[in-house]
Amino acid sequence: MSQVLDTVAPVRIARFTTGDDPRFGLVEGEPGEEVLHVVAGDPLYAPLQPTGTTVPLVDARLLAPVIPRSKVVGIGRNYAEHAAELGNDVPARPLMFLKPNTAVVGPGEPVVLPAGSGRVDYEGELAVVIGRVCKDVPRERAHEVVLGYTCANDVTARDWQESDGQWARAKGFDTSCPLGPWIVPGLDVGDLEITTRLDGEVVQTGRTSDMVFDVPDLIAHVSAAFTLLPGDVILTGTPPGVGPVTVGQRVEVEIEGIGTLGNPAVAR
Ligand code: MG
Repeated sequence: MSQVLDTVAPVRIARFTTGDDPRFGLVEGEPGEEVLHVVAGDPLYAPLQPTGTTVPLVDARLLAPVIPRSKVVGIGRNYAEHAAELGNDVPARPLMFLKPNTAVVGPGEPVVLPAGSGRVDYEGELAVVIGRVCKDVPRERAHEVVLGYTCANDVTARDWQESDGQWARAKGFDTSCPLGPWIVPGLDVGDLEITTRLDGEVVQTGRTSDMVFDVPDLIAHVSAAFTLLPGDVILTGTPPGVGPVTVGQRVEVEIEGIGTLGNPAVAR
């Protein structure tokens, strides 16, 4: 992998289908003209080895770039302005919750608003994809366990979050974790702009430099609690501006240096 990662252009690892089994490919080219260079095997477990086969991106359907092998670990209230907008204090240590891997959907796939919830919110977030088995990772070595970064929408049934106390249903229902469009390894995520759009209108803006606990801190804290497996994902919290998404609307999460994840909302 290192040879590929040493190249100048940022590597983008996509998971896609052209109708058959999912494959992985490196995305190259300018927006609208991207080509997928198919790689052998799963980049989580094998070096990035191009096969020589290429597929125009327009002929492929992108899938969630990773299906977390065991879990998505979410972090709550990691931007002070977002904690304040919902009337909460900033936690003294990272506030963790879990989303099941069955919550994950890919770019363009619908978020199915659950029947019985009166308010479902978008939350645009930076997602960290873990690349190796790890436990008790020190902050200084956190970068060693990261495969790369992608965009996430931590979709939340806000009314259930309040009424249930536990967040499992509110943040873990099917389709509540869109991920994509691809994984970017080696990105410096210390100060990236995050933008969320609802039907094209900007509703959230923030910078990762405003996180209460930065990515190395989060990896240290999360791995102190849980063994992390290749393909596990950490959601790093949402900037201010959360609000409801309703049937027929489309949410886009764009992160500088990564790309844009877009998903429509549909009724159950
Ligand atoms: Mg969140």
